Amino acid sequence: MRTNIVAGNWKMNLNFEEADELINNIVEFLENETLENVGVIVCPPAVYLELATDQAQDNDLFVGAQNMSNHESGAYTGEISGRMLASMGVNYCIIGHSERRKYFNENHEMLAEKVNMALKNDISPIFCCGEVLPEREAGKHFEVVKKQLEESLFHLQPGDFSNVVIAYEPVWAIGTGVTATPEQAQEMHAFIRKLLVDKYGHDLADETTILYGGSCNAKNAKELFANPDVDGGLIGGASLKSDEFISIIQSF
Ligand code: PEP
Repeated sequence: MRTNIVAGNWKMNLNFEEADELINNIVEFLENETLENVGVIVCPPAVYLELATDQAQDNDLFVGAQNMSNHESGAYTGEISGRMLASMGVNYCIIGHSERRKYFNENHEMLAEKVNMALKNDISPIFCCGEVLPEREAGKHFEVVKKQLEESLFHLQPGDFSNVVIAYEPVWAIGTGVTATPEQAQEMHAFIRKLLVDKYGHDLADETTILYGGSCNAKNAKELFANPDVDGGLIGGASLKSDEFISIIQSF
């Protein structure tokens, strides 16, 4: 049975005290609650990763980075390598987020390199895919997502692919307050799973966690997660308040 996941992408938000408080609240919740088949991941800014990995010991919290270099090591000022993240106890890394594709010009090829670098360091990529609004309006959303997966993930051998989490994040829904309808989410998730069946076979496709991201919050999570192919969420804005994030976790 595949694992459901709720992952919080904090983006570039919160100061040290606020980050500390948010992690403490999530840890306290997890220590008092037994969750049935739901993994909880926080993806804080890199400067707070140690805070998170320190707190994530002996409980059910996992820690993800928001980005990693496609290079192994060396003269890349400001960059953070997969090896560094792994040595800090980081378990996941968001790769291919639309903000990084848009503002940092991350292309398919670079994303494939980042995916490889993550896996090489035993870090599971949370690979984001999704179309922009004009692509959906032109009826090209399936084609766009297919290409994103083919170009940056489908070179992987099944053994490596089994460590990948996919996040479908329609770009028009990210940070806009406009959520995909449960039907739109399910339709795309089922499409992605079918691509996985064709590429890797039924068993691996069934085991792959596919998250929905894009203005998911405490009010709409239950309806989204109720779909057979929606295995949880990658949560941006709503992951910054512990009450709201916890309530999303409880939507399963
Ligand atoms: C995200 O950035 O991955 C995201 C889903 O953001 P939001 O929930 O704020 O739309």
